[in-house]
Amino acid sequence: MSFSLKNHNTFGLDVRAAHGYVIGDFAMFAPALEKIAGSGLPFLVLGRGSDVLFTEDFGGVALINALKGFEFNEDRDFHYVKIQAGEDFDEAIRTCLARGIRGLENLALIPGTAGAAPVQNIGAYGASFADFCRYVEVLDLATGRLDRIGAADCGFGYRTSIFKKRENAARYIITAVELKIPKAWTPNLGYESLAGLEGAEAWDIYRHIAALRRDRLPDPRELGNAGSFFKNPVVDAAVYDMLLGTYPSVPAYPAGEDGKVKLAAGWLIDRAGCRGMRVGNAGTSAKQALVVVNYGGAAPAEIVLVAQLVRGKVFAKFGVLLEPEVRIYGRTGECGL
Ligand code: FAD
Ligand code: NAP
Repeated sequence: MSFSLKNHNTFGLDVRAAHGYVIGDFAMFAPALEKIAGSGLPFLVLGRGSDVLFTEDFGGVALINALKGFEFNEDRDFHYVKIQAGEDFDEAIRTCLARGIRGLENLALIPGTAGAAPVQNIGAYGASFADFCRYVEVLDLATGRLDRIGAADCGFGYRTSIFKKRENAARYIITAVELKIPKAWTPNLGYESLAGLEGAEAWDIYRHIAALRRDRLPDPRELGNAGSFFKNPVVDAAVYDMLLGTYPSVPAYPAGEDGKVKLAAGWLIDRAGCRGMRVGNAGTSAKQALVVVNYGGAAPAEIVLVAQLVRGKVFAKFGVLLEPEVRIYGRTGECGL
């Protein structure tokens, strides 16, 4: 009766859910929701599983979101693009670019579905999902109705939203997102690695970022991983000043909050001597210390151990506690490291 999650988590861990349903159209919600209501088991919605770590088999119901479709509208100033939750977000970017809709290119090649994009407000190279969101369409299990949550009510922040809250994860199934993309296009070239692209077209920026990412990140099809394992820590300016005294090259960026500074987790992990470390079948990527990888056949406990070691070493050296960005699930639901 159980359902394999091996192809539904990019760590490639051989774990199972007690029950699983692939939701290809709205009619397929009925048996899944009946199972959840009838059994009282916890449930979990998955897209591609590129931001999750299972520490063991999940004892609940996994809903794999595979809703497909696009809808394009426009007015004088904006393009409106509605994307069903199971569409690949990167494919949506390429579909937009092919239609002359520019703006999403900095989010090139982030794995995963459109439905997961609002959950952690995906971001890269100075852009985030929130910059383009008009609303998120949800199946609200509290009312049984399809609803729209406007961008202003999604609580978007740095790699966060209301959808990360436990009570909302148990209430909302995201079924679609609608983007609002200005027709007046301004390239977003603030990141150092985009310097030199002045005058480039949106497709050039997309290709440049895609090439950078292919070069810098392990491909989950070859080495199981879920991208950055930890969030960049946001610390008080006083903590940053103290670090600066000992480590004058510590990188930091404005955190968007008064008196706070964003540190680069990858730099801290690297300097704590954890880049390319290996424990059994798991470790960190030699290319990017922030990425915990399955070197082949790793058990969930090996991935957890590596993440704990990394966190411990960074804390011992810098006094900064890293928080997982990856969502961690145990037998009964979300849990900590
Ligand atoms: P999943 O991993 O399946 O789910 C993630 C979370 O969202 C889970 O808690 C799940 O329950 C919830 N969820 C998923 N779909 C729904 C839904 N329809 N309704 C309600 N809840 C839902 N992230 C970035 O922000 N920036 C990056 O640059 C980036 N680079 C990455 C690079 C690599 C190589 C990898 C492997 C990952 C990277 N990530 C990055 C993380 C990941 O791509 C994003 O978090 C992505 O949005 C996850 O999509 P998914 O469909 O795989 O979601
Ligand atoms: P990078 O460009 O070498 O930068 C290192 C870190 O410094 C990043 O975490 C980035 O923060 C921060 N940074 C750099 N320039 C900045 C600026 N001008 N303003 C504010 N912050 C700045 O990073 P990288 O490792 O090669 O990754 C490139 C981009 O892809 C980053 O945006 C990163 O977030 C994204 N990425 C994300 C994941 C994931 O799973 N979340 C995985 C791979 C790559 P930000 O992270 O806030 O951008």
